[in-house]
Amino acid sequence: MAESVELPSRLAILPFRNKVLLPGAIIRIRCTSPSSVKLVEQELWQREEKGLIGILPVRDTAEMTTVGPLLSQGVGTDSGERSSKIQVATSESNKPDGKNQQEVMHWHTRGVAARALHLSRGVEKPSGRVTYIVVLEGLCRFSVQELSTRGTYYTARISSLDMNKTEMEQVEQDPEFIALSRQFKATAMELISVLEQKQKTGGRTKVLLETVPVHKLADIFVASFEISFEEQLSMLDSVDLKVRLSKATELVDRHLQSIRVAEKITQKVEGQLSKSQKEFLLRQQMRAIKEELGDNDDDEDDVAALERKMQSAGMPPNIWKHAQRELRRLKKMQPQQPGYNSSRVYLELLADLPWQKASEEHELDLRAAKERLDSDHYGLVKVKQRIIEYLAVRKLKPDARGPVLCFVGPPGVGKTSLASSIASALGRKFVRISLGGVKDEADIRGHRRTYIGSMPGRLIEGLKRVGVSNPVMLLDEIDKTGSDVRGDPASALLEVLDPEQNKTFNDHYLNVPYDLSKVIFVATANRVQPIPPPLLDRMEVIELPGYTPEEKLKIAMRHLIPRVLDQHGLSSEFLEISEAMVKLVIQRYTREAGVRNLERNLAALARAAAVQVAEQEQAIPLSKDMHRLASPLLDSRLADGSEMEMEVIPMGVNNQELSSTFRVASPLVVDEAMLDKVLGPPRYDDKETAERVATAGVSVGLVWTAFGGEVQFVEATAMLGKGDLHLTGQLGDVIKESAQIALTWVRARAADLKLAAPEEINLLQGRDIHIHFPAGAVPKDGPSAGVTMVTSLVSLFSQKRVRADTAMTGEMTLRGLILPVGGIKDKILAAHRYGIKRVILPERNLKDLVEVPSAVLASLEILLAKRMEDVLEQAFEGGCPWRRDSKL
Ligand code: ADP
Repeated sequence: MAESVELPSRLAILPFRNKVLLPGAIIRIRCTSPSSVKLVEQELWQREEKGLIGILPVRDTAEMTTVGPLLSQGVGTDSGERSSKIQVATSESNKPDGKNQQEVMHWHTRGVAARALHLSRGVEKPSGRVTYIVVLEGLCRFSVQELSTRGTYYTARISSLDMNKTEMEQVEQDPEFIALSRQFKATAMELISVLEQKQKTGGRTKVLLETVPVHKLADIFVASFEISFEEQLSMLDSVDLKVRLSKATELVDRHLQSIRVAEKITQKVEGQLSKSQKEFLLRQQMRAIKEELGDNDDDEDDVAALERKMQSAGMPPNIWKHAQRELRRLKKMQPQQPGYNSSRVYLELLADLPWQKASEEHELDLRAAKERLDSDHYGLVKVKQRIIEYLAVRKLKPDARGPVLCFVGPPGVGKTSLASSIASALGRKFVRISLGGVKDEADIRGHRRTYIGSMPGRLIEGLKRVGVSNPVMLLDEIDKTGSDVRGDPASALLEVLDPEQNKTFNDHYLNVPYDLSKVIFVATANRVQPIPPPLLDRMEVIELPGYTPEEKLKIAMRHLIPRVLDQHGLSSEFLEISEAMVKLVIQRYTREAGVRNLERNLAALARAAAVQVAEQEQAIPLSKDMHRLASPLLDSRLADGSEMEMEVIPMGVNNQELSSTFRVASPLVVDEAMLDKVLGPPRYDDKETAERVATAGVSVGLVWTAFGGEVQFVEATAMLGKGDLHLTGQLGDVIKESAQIALTWVRARAADLKLAAPEEINLLQGRDIHIHFPAGAVPKDGPSAGVTMVTSLVSLFSQKRVRADTAMTGEMTLRGLILPVGGIKDKILAAHRYGIKRVILPERNLKDLVEVPSAVLASLEILLAKRMEDVLEQAFEGGCPWRRDSKL
């Protein structure tokens, strides 16, 4: 840095747009415009000795009004100096860039003389334009006396603004200057140390502070800051040293402060960052170490826990060996490896299975067991008796290989609950396995582990769930298993139920034998027929017929209502359902063999009541307070117009308090209106049969379905046609054949039955017959609808209506003999439910009537038929008059 510079009187001027070069600053610029290139070329590049140029700031404005450059007023300085506005004599033709420039150039009146520290020349391709890169150093201030253009660039007549030596010495004596420079140096020192700390640079800047005169230092410091153009201008204008120093001190201080604030912020941010970064790094490292070691802590823990669990599972020795082998394999595997998970799940199952764990069987008390059965179930005397016998045998010979009990009956007759009562009578756990719809053998026996997503069969799954090796296991709906290409579940069940084989039951998934011999199996089915005979052979069938309405009423009053109330948090104090109402529910809303729908309807009533009781919660405490209102104190207070105080029952009152509170209210009594409101309009009524048989061609049959006995209407009609027989409804082959037989029989006896005149003996002449079994959703098959179809055909051809109060069942031979059919008890119960008064049965079914509850029998007229004519005789009002003439 030159100490002092001799300035020439004229300088070539390089305008700096919105920028100031301060003395002491070093700047690198690229000159591309023709005027600046020319200037550099002529004033710097081509000169032998290093030339000087003047850098003059130009304020860029958007003003487009005045033509030609203006030398604007300098920015006011603190000393009050004002530079005058200089208009430069320039014309359109000789403007530096030769452009038709219309913008106002606000030249600053003060600039800085600069010299080039470095010059480099370049040629732009492909235009061939010359450019210069110049590194300039600001030297000293000057003021512009006059600005003019020389060729393509500006020149100015200038005068130096720097003080000479004597002036300088004078100022240096000025105490104010001394104080100011001290202050400046101190602040600058502070800034340097802060920067040095930050950048850990050596003390080069400090040396600068010692050697360079303070007024130059001020410029050098300020030049290195990023400050606004205005501030740069004002620094440039600070010719007076004191002004310059105080301005520089202010700027250095500001810079210092901003560095400190920024530091604080970064420290804060860094603090937060480093914490999370540290964590992240540590985690990464941990993971890397674990990977290096080939194990994972969590999995390690898991495997160890699994091993402990396996050890305490009490596996038999051979299975333990197998499990150990598998565990060793697992330990060698990476958690990410395929097969790791399946191996672990498998071992979990081995560890979870109850190999030895069993519910402790207490000494079986038969009387207690009987009491338990009685308290859980109404009626079912024979069934209960059989269960007690079964239990008695078990008591005498615990490992007796008795047959498996199989409860057969329509839904909702208590099969499941009986099985669970057996479990509780034996003090064993109960587990239910649903077999309905099981068609795949793998459902029973599991999939081999080679399959993706393989799992154990339902039995092993059930045992895992129940957690003991000796539960009572209910094989629910054993009649609903089917067989298809995926194997025969029944054969797997055979193995399960066979006491010889089930000691070593082999589940494909488990792949080791499991001893099922301690399990007590109980099965349920809706019907016996679909059960494969070998399976049936291993079971003792106990039939549970449907209930009579009277039995249902008793069951409802004794068992269902208390249970339903309890389930809904109510008691008889809140809801009263009278026998009469239960009867109505049975008659109007349920027509089922069991009591499941009845229970559902009662639950609906209880829900409705629960809502009402819950709503009363607020109302009742108030009524309690009503008594208090009668007290003289409250009376007088009320009279005074004061507000009434109410006792508020806290939310957490115990049940005792609550029920005592509620007792004040009378229980909700179920009446017909409530039935209507809650259960909707009645679904069934006794008039149905009468309405359905109001036309000729309809008869009432009794059939037997999975839901127990059912009343089945058979409709027949004739139409123009070619003598075909059409059948609709969900019918099996047997029923179709029966229809054919029925039609043949009627046609054969048309004359005898006086259904047609002897000359037109063909009943099907020019007409088709259509027989329909409504309620088509229930599949029907079996021969027992034979008599019903004949009756409806006779009714159709004779145009006589059958009796609405009579239902019938029976198979008919082609010759008109009536053969016995099955399910008599259920059918009679169904007829009873429908309000039928007379039932025509095959004579040979007489023996089955003993099974029918006597109350039901008493309410029905049972008519036994040997031949078809007997049926017809009973089916029509006033008998069958044509019979007497016939020679059947
Ligand atoms: P299922 O298994 O035959 O379909 P559930 O055992 O599930 O029928 O019985 C349905 C409901 O009816 C159960 O709540 C059961 O307690 C009740 N239930 C059935 N029969 C009786 C009965 N005789 N006494 C008391 N409750 C019965």
